[in-house]
Parts: sequence; structure tokens; C-alpha cells
Amino acid sequence: LFAGTADFVSAAPSLGSLPPMRGVEIAFAGRSNVGKSSLVNALTGRNTLARTSHTPGRTQQLNFFDINGRFTLVDMPGYGFAAVEKAKVAAWTELIHAYLRGRANLARVYMLIDGRHGLKTIDTDVLDGLDKAAVSYQIVLTKGDELKKSEVSARIRGVEAALARRPAAYPEVLLTSSRDARGIAELRASIARLVAE
Ligand code: GDP
Repeated sequence: LFAGTADFVSAAPSLGSLPPMRGVEIAFAGRSNVGKSSLVNALTGRNTLARTSHTPGRTQQLNFFDINGRFTLVDMPGYGFAAVEKAKVAAWTELIHAYLRGRANLARVYMLIDGRHGLKTIDTDVLDGLDKAAVSYQIVLTKGDELKKSEVSARIRGVEAALARRPAAYPEVLLTSSRDARGIAELRASIARLVAE
């Protein structure tokens, strides 16, 4: 599914410029610095994807990548970056909400959460938005290599407990690391199931 080519389709700074809906779309979201670029690189084996998303001017946009003609990977702009001024945050929120509401082919949002910290208030706010828009999501803990063996299950259980208080049912919480590749196969399998449906 992942071996082969990944082509940049487009960057959408506004709703008017979203590419047409075609095939299954899956999106990656998370706080700035959560490790999203590294994870997308580890997942696809290509550095160009994330580099594109870190290009100044594209960091506040939705970036669409065609993966082998099988599905579209959407890299959502990182949130919670303190240096971003208020007007930009408002524009971000508006774009994201409009995208999430109107995208019938969006199969799932992979919500990246820093494994060292667990859910922060800002993450919970974004989850509220996803629940309101009835968008399906799966929590992916990042930087799992930073956790001691004894901390892993407690961190996962903590996130599961927070999810259990939410209105919908959720797929399993995954723990990943771009450093030691743990959880990458499970994440690929999760995506493959969505693409096959
Ligand atoms: P993004 O802003 O969400 O795209 O995050 P990046 O992928 O650019 O990573 C942010 C920082 O976290 C960088 O310093 C990375 O080296 C570090 N990082 C990313 N993934 C991992 C990981 O799996 N383990 C550890 N320990 N650090 C990571």
C-alpha cells in the first residue's frame, strides 16, 4: 500500500481550493511538534511529504498527497503553536471545521498525541470539534520511545479512560515511535483496513 510513489496533489489555504473528493481520504492532525512529520515519513518512507508541509506558507494549510493512487493522505496544520496570532488561529479553525464537516470521503482522522504528555486541554478541544462534526478518529500516541516500559500501559489506559467519557466508540489507542518504529506496522494496518473497505 505504501511502497511506491507519493505525489503532492495540492495545498488548500481556503475551502474554495480543496481538491475534488476522490477515493478514500485519511488525515493526520496534532499539536505542533507532536512528531507528525516524522511519523508521516516513517509511515510512507518518504521525506518529501513532511518537508512540503514544513515549507513556509504551507504550514498553515491542508496538504493533500496521493499515495500510489490508492488513497489520499491529508496533512493538517499543527495546532496550539503559541507564536501564531489570533487571526490566524481563527482562520485555521474555520478551515478545519469546514473541511471536516464537508468531506464525505474522509474515512478517519489520526489524532496524534505526544506520548510523553497524554491529552492536553487543546487536544480535548479538538476532539470536541471532531465529535461535534461526527468525524471518526483514532488516537495515535507519538514518541513512545521516550516512555519507560512501565509507563506505557498506564498512559494508554489514561487516554482510553478519557475517551470512554466521550459520546462515540473509538478504535484502539496506538502507541508509536518514529525513532524505533514501534507501532508503525499497526498504524499501516489500520489505514489499510480503511482503504480496503
Ligand atoms: P511536527 O511539528 O508535528 O511535524 O513534529 P516533527 O516531526 O517535526 O518532530 C518534532 C520534534 O520531535 C523533533 O525534534 C523530532 O526529532 C522529535 N520527534 C519526532 N518523532 C519522534 C519520536 O518518535 N521519538 C522521539 N524521541 N522524538 C521524536
